[in-house]
Amino acid sequence: MREVFDHIVIGAGLGGLSTACLLQDKGKHVLLLEAQHSVGGCASYFARKKFLFDVGATTLSGMKHDQPVQRLLRRLKIDIDLLLCDPGMIIRMNDRTLHRWIDTERWITECEQCFGPARQREFWTLVHSVADTAWTASASLKNLPLQSARDLLSIPGMVRHASLVPYLFRSVQDVLKESGLADNKDFVRFLSEQLMITAQSDVRDTPFVVGAMGLAYPSDTWYVMGGMNNFPRLLRKNFTDNGGTLLLKNKVVSVESDIVKKVTTEDGNIFYGRNIISNATGWDNKRIFPAQEQYFDKEYASLGGWGAFTGYYGVEDNPGIGDHLYQQIILESPLPHCGSNSVFLSFSAKDDSSRAPQGFRTLTVSTHIAEPQHWWKLSEHETTRRKEEIGAAMTDVLNKHLPYFRQAEKVVEMFGTPITFANFTHRSFGQVGGIPQSMHRPLFFWPGSKTDERGVFVVGDTIYPGQGAPGVILGALNLADRFVT
Ligand SMILES: Cc1cc2nc3c(=O)[nH]c(=O)nc-3n(C[C@H](O)[C@H](O)[C@H](O)COP(=O)(O)OP(=O)(O)OC[C@H]3O[C@@H](n4cnc5c(N)ncnc54)[C@H](O)[C@@H]3O)c2cc1C
Repeated sequence: MREVFDHIVIGAGLGGLSTACLLQDKGKHVLLLEAQHSVGGCASYFARKKFLFDVGATTLSGMKHDQPVQRLLRRLKIDIDLLLCDPGMIIRMNDRTLHRWIDTERWITECEQCFGPARQREFWTLVHSVADTAWTASASLKNLPLQSARDLLSIPGMVRHASLVPYLFRSVQDVLKESGLADNKDFVRFLSEQLMITAQSDVRDTPFVVGAMGLAYPSDTWYVMGGMNNFPRLLRKNFTDNGGTLLLKNKVVSVESDIVKKVTTEDGNIFYGRNIISNATGWDNKRIFPAQEQYFDKEYASLGGWGAFTGYYGVEDNPGIGDHLYQQIILESPLPHCGSNSVFLSFSAKDDSSRAPQGFRTLTVSTHIAEPQHWWKLSEHETTRRKEEIGAAMTDVLNKHLPYFRQAEKVVEMFGTPITFANFTHRSFGQVGGIPQSMHRPLFFWPGSKTDERGVFVVGDTIYPGQGAPGVILGALNLADRFVT
């Protein structure tokens, strides 16, 4: 007799893992299929010469009481060894260094010293108040974006959070204009580069609600001891300890539409499930669900993602690094062939001996690549040349901005391109970081977890509410609640 699972989850990124854990925890019969040999997707890791590198995600946030990561950990009773970073990050810009302190007063003083005193207090007070309200709203509004008549039931909850509505349809730039801050060029540049980390867009294209959540995020930045991948590894343990079935190296190639759906993997394995939850991106799902091709085409044709270029360094420790584990360097212009005016640096913690040998640290550096599809049109020779060119430029930036970096011994120096990400995460054209925010298609009009087919759902950073551990986990909490509450 064939075994029929309640839920088959395709992909063990943070989205798929969280959903699988939440369902399994409530006694559902869940199968989790992952294409790679390890879990985590963009929050996975690789090891090289005794160094353990996070491939993409490095910071954990969303840890305040009502926020998604904290809610998930509480529900699953997972204990995770974390280090709170204060400052959450430092930002190097115009030969100055800003410390993004957790304490709002201290941060406002820092901004007043750097950008001038005018209106900083009003702006940051508004940012934190809108962000706090938005997180509270997101915890109570489970059925956003509205996708069915049943979801209308959440509208009374929306009325309670009506103060947010104007900020959904005004960009960060609109609010800057209203506050008289739009002409403060350095400040606007700083905000745009901060927003690129979370919203994947600048001040012009980011709705203020999302912008506020993104700008408040560095006040809640945590380092995961052992590396970010410890988080998906703990989720994996929780899932299997609770009796869930995880099969690695099982890439799903198709799902047939039916009441009980037939799932086929690249190696010809076949599984059956009543509900299928895909953690693949919206761009990739149309191949996995042929009957839903039109749905995914309609939803995703106008939505494109960024690619990433990453540098991985095993570097000699230096007192200059200290506790400044996360650093953004704002550049005058992007690295060659790249798309944002900044690079983001993540060091392993000094005491984290599981990630680097004594006297060394791991360093992951990332920046955006515009139109990653273009990399698939390059010859092999041109791909290698471009990778070397960007890698050298990235190292030059580090040499220029970090006084100790040039002299420091580097045991590992490796680079990743959109092609690397496509190979390791199975994301079409290595598009990472979810859907960039846009005023043309604000967040509430993004695709949701439900598709046009009964029993087919999507989770991850290409549906509402988007990217990063907090966004993806909020999507997982909301989706799981459709089945278990
Ligand atoms: C360079 C970089 C830095 C980042 N920094 C941060 C950060 O500091 N903090 C933060 O919170 N977020 C960060 N992010 C964003 C964050 O990593 C992602 O938004 C999040 O991890 C995405 O999770 P996901 O579950 O949506 O998808 P993914 O991580 O892409 O996981 C999808 C999983 O599904 C698997 N899969 C795909 N197709 C199939 C298939 N057909 N069959 C079986 N399995 C399949 C993949 O192998 C993968 O394991 C960063 C991203 C990048 C690229």
